[in-house]
Amino acid sequence: MSAIIADLHLHSKFSQAVSKKMGLEEIAYWARLKGINLVATGDWTHPLWFREIKKKLKVITPGIFQLEKFPEVKFMLVTEISTVYSHKEKLRKIHHLIFSPSFEVAEKIIKKLAGFGYNLLADGRPTIGLSSRELLELIMDINENTFLIPCHIWTPWFSLFGSRSGYDSIEESFEDLSTYITAVETGLSSDPVMNWQIKELTNRVIVSFSDAHSGSKLGREATVFVFNNEQASKPEAYSFSDILNALKQKPSRLKIGYTIEFFPQEGKYHWSGHRDCRVRYSPEEVLKKGKICPVCQRQLTIGVENRVIELSERMIKKDDLCFLKNRSGLTFVYDKEKKRTPFVSIVPLMEILQQITDSPAKAEKDYFRLINELGPEFLIILNTPYEKIEAVGGRTLKEAIRNVREREVKVEPGYDGVFGKVQIFSRKEKPEVQTSQLGLF
Ligand SMILES: [Zn+2]
Ligand SMILES: [Zn+2]
Repeated sequence: MSAIIADLHLHSKFSQAVSKKMGLEEIAYWARLKGINLVATGDWTHPLWFREIKKKLKVITPGIFQLEKFPEVKFMLVTEISTVYSHKEKLRKIHHLIFSPSFEVAEKIIKKLAGFGYNLLADGRPTIGLSSRELLELIMDINENTFLIPCHIWTPWFSLFGSRSGYDSIEESFEDLSTYITAVETGLSSDPVMNWQIKELTNRVIVSFSDAHSGSKLGREATVFVFNNEQASKPEAYSFSDILNALKQKPSRLKIGYTIEFFPQEGKYHWSGHRDCRVRYSPEEVLKKGKICPVCQRQLTIGVENRVIELSERMIKKDDLCFLKNRSGLTFVYDKEKKRTPFVSIVPLMEILQQITDSPAKAEKDYFRLINELGPEFLIILNTPYEKIEAVGGRTLKEAIRNVREREVKVEPGYDGVFGKVQIFSRKEKPEVQTSQLGLF
């Protein structure tokens, strides 16, 4: 293995609306099933979680940890902090990932935040009253090897570019410290292409992580780090600084090879609308009919696609892209000049199986059987030869995975909190499949 599949945004049982099972062992167990090599601890500002992770995690290399029982899964101290504050007469609500190089540095950040009176026990993802800029300054003052990534930057309610919560630019938000923002997280509802349209992101790294609230959602998006020198095939030897330097585009043993993405239409804020009023608008419809809901007369929740168009310097069309298949048939999407980090788009294995079998119980059984026989989920989705998939999982599964690898899927876009619906088979290929019973609420 000369690549590190990383998922650096997830939550523990101490965050609101998270499965009570989300302890370290659960996170490591699912990471191993999925084939994720490096995960975030999440939630390290929470005093109880901090105590637990400090007790259980052992340092492997500086800033990289592991649990005794799961040596194949490495951990990093990455957490999410929500800043809610007023700036230039507008209420801002923005989420950030905060990286700490060590428990000592994390402890200093926790002390500082607690000293301001913020209740860190209330939520694994605490809400604080500092501005985004102040938060960045605070962590950098404590240690120069801390790092901040604005998360899911397009979601309407809690993000840097959010239509209802953020700014029109990084500059406006982080002011004189903008140059320290070298990476942004796309979120489920946008993919790299949409972000390539934004001038400010031209020289910044685009990363993707799951924001999982339960084990099975781990790795629904991920970032793959690769070693610059192929000889360096001892992945256990990388450190926190190697990862950080790759995120800062500094010379490093590692660089970002590609990201693994959702089909962005599947995200729950891709298009605009009102869930309760059953109004869903495409970007074109918003332009034609306006932003007011015809049912309740209030403003629609403007989806990510519209928001991206508003801030785009230029529009990238399919013809402007380059699609390259590797030996496994996996399609990488590049910009024409190949200047940007490419990406692949996937549908989680469980979702694929649910479309094949029509029985949730059988899908679950098949999921574990396949992983048992073929290896981790990412290996199956991205790498395993088609013949092998067919031999173990049948022809329909092989066809489904081929459709995903070759981007031959249809997606009905999500809006206002409703997930989109992926259709892996066209009607011709598998007429008996009922996509309506997917768990998409
Ligand atoms: Zn968030
Ligand atoms: Zn409405």
